[in-house]
Amino acid sequence: MTTFHAMRLHKAESGATNAAIETLALNDLPEGDVLVKVDYSTINFKDGLAITGRSPIIRKFPMTPGIDFAGSVLESTHPRFKAGDRVLLNGWGVGESHPGGLAQMARVPGDWLTPCPASFSTRQAMAIGTAGYTAMLCVNALERHGLTPGDGDILVTGAAGGVGSIAVAILSGLGYSVTASTGRTNETDYLKGLGAKEVIDRRELSEPSAKPLAKERWAGVVDSVGSHTLVNACAATKSEGAVAACGLAQGMDFPATVAPFILRGVVLYGVNSVTAPIARREHAWARLAKDLDPQKLDAMTKEIGLSDAIAVAPEILAGHIRGRLVVDVNQFKS
Ligand code: NDP
Repeated sequence: MTTFHAMRLHKAESGATNAAIETLALNDLPEGDVLVKVDYSTINFKDGLAITGRSPIIRKFPMTPGIDFAGSVLESTHPRFKAGDRVLLNGWGVGESHPGGLAQMARVPGDWLTPCPASFSTRQAMAIGTAGYTAMLCVNALERHGLTPGDGDILVTGAAGGVGSIAVAILSGLGYSVTASTGRTNETDYLKGLGAKEVIDRRELSEPSAKPLAKERWAGVVDSVGSHTLVNACAATKSEGAVAACGLAQGMDFPATVAPFILRGVVLYGVNSVTAPIARREHAWARLAKDLDPQKLDAMTKEIGLSDAIAVAPEILAGHIRGRLVVDVNQFKS
């Protein structure tokens, strides 16, 4: 294949971001020691921001979006990878400053690639995608803190979204009692099916509170929402508990007091998937292979084609996408 299809983002004179499926040549790809034939990518929240232009995710135009992909190596001069190897990629600025995964081909430095775990198809790897890998990084942060299921309830916010759904499935599979916070209480059966013990309305957490501390309720928290939700989650975390914060679906602000940290010894862990070191990535993916029930993954995944990915970008930002969207990049309308 000397030409291939890719979603391309252009900046219009008005400042708007325009997306279209275009045909590119292999030599349009940047330098890199591994050429990958992409099978699947996904739509994460950040891809929604990039494709709509809602936030300045794209560093240079024109750009192929897609912060992750999975496929097989076509050509490699990198010592860790050879033709035929199944690989995946999360982050490293791919789909932001380096052409990304919403394309049939990608060329990247081999140091950015992770071997695809043997038990996952490339479709399953991208059903997990960056959202699921980040959920596991959050769980790993709570585990490094020393939390165990006996410590009490774990709160997962943004629970019906990508990070949230996978966090609920992993934590319940590990034996934790999970409380899922969602704005979509009509998805209670879905969240209980993933293993949530209790489902609460996110309005319990999303409003400003005058009190710096609340009744101790959570042994740990996985938060993909930020803003007042993260503040209220910290305020209700038990003494010596831990909060893993990875997202900003409600907002990037954090209008908190230090009370939970200095009066209860609560620890707030920041989780950044983009530049996580290779060992931490490979550990997270090995744990996903071991601790994420493939049937639950299947239950939360919907598949779309490359051209459909343009229309769903505003939908994920509106919080309308349940679970995960996997993108078959080889399925498109010309
Ligand atoms: P999704 O859109 O799939 O999930 C976000 C969920 O947050 C929504 O489904 C919704 O869940 C909830 N939500 C949306 N809007 C609001 C709001 N205004 N107030 C409160 N809750 C809201 O996105 P992802 O799971 O892909 O990503 C989640 C967040 O994590 C994003 O901010 C993303 O940027 C971040 N992220 C960060 C990474 C990192 O490296 N730090 C890596 C991956 C993601 P519900 O309907 O259940 O309430």
